[in-house]
Amino acid sequence: MSNGEGIKDIYEYTKMNTPSHAIMNLAILITPVQHQATLPIVFGAVLPDIPMFVMYFWAKFVRRQPEAQIWTKIYFTPFWQNIIHGFHSIPLFLVGILTVHCFGYWQVEITLFSALLHCLGDFPVHNDDAHRHFLPFSNYRFISPISYWDVKHHGKIVGLVEKLLVLIASLYIFPLQQSWISKVVIIAVNLIYITGFFYFRVFRRCQTSNSASFEQ
Ligand SMILES: [Zn+2]
Repeated sequence: MSNGEGIKDIYEYTKMNTPSHAIMNLAILITPVQHQATLPIVFGAVLPDIPMFVMYFWAKFVRRQPEAQIWTKIYFTPFWQNIIHGFHSIPLFLVGILTVHCFGYWQVEITLFSALLHCLGDFPVHNDDAHRHFLPFSNYRFISPISYWDVKHHGKIVGLVEKLLVLIASLYIFPLQQSWISKVVIIAVNLIYITGFFYFRVFRRCQTSNSASFEQ
C-alpha cells in the first residue's frame, strides 16, 4: 500500500469528527468572562467518542487490524456498539446534569452539558451508523437521510458545511483563547480540514481525470 492509499483509507474510513464537536461546543458555550470553562467544555465534547478512540487504538495497534476491518466490522460488533451508544445517551447525560446541578459542581455540569451537545450534534448527521441516543430506555435509532461522511447520503456537502461552520466558530473563539496551546490546536484542526479538502477534492480529482485522459 502506498502512502497516498494509506491516507485515503484513513480519510474514508475514519468516522470521527470529534475536533469539530470541541470547536463548535466552545463557540456555543464559552463566555468571554469564563475562561476556566474551556477545558471542561473540550473534555465534554470529546467524552462521547472516547470509547471509539479506545476501540480504534486497541484494534489498530494491539490487534493490528486494517482500517477497513475496524470501521466496517469491529465498530459494528454488539460489544463496541453498546459502549459507544451508551456514551451517546441523551437521557443518561440529562440525569447526570440534573444530579450534579443539585450538588453545584459547575465544572462537571458544563462537561456533561457539552457531551449532551455532542449527542444532539450527532443526531441529524448519522445514517447507517446512527447511535441509539435514548439508551437505556429505547433502542430507537434515527436513520438520517444525511451523513457527515457517507457520500451515498450527501456526505460531501454535509462535510463541507461542517468544515465551514468549524472555520466560522474558530474565528469567534480564537480571540477568547488565553493559552497558546489552544490557539495552536484551533489553527491545526482548520489547517488539517482545509488541506484535506483540497487534497481529496481538488488534487486527487485532477489526478483521476488526468489518468483517465491518459488511458483514452
Ligand atoms: Zn459522537
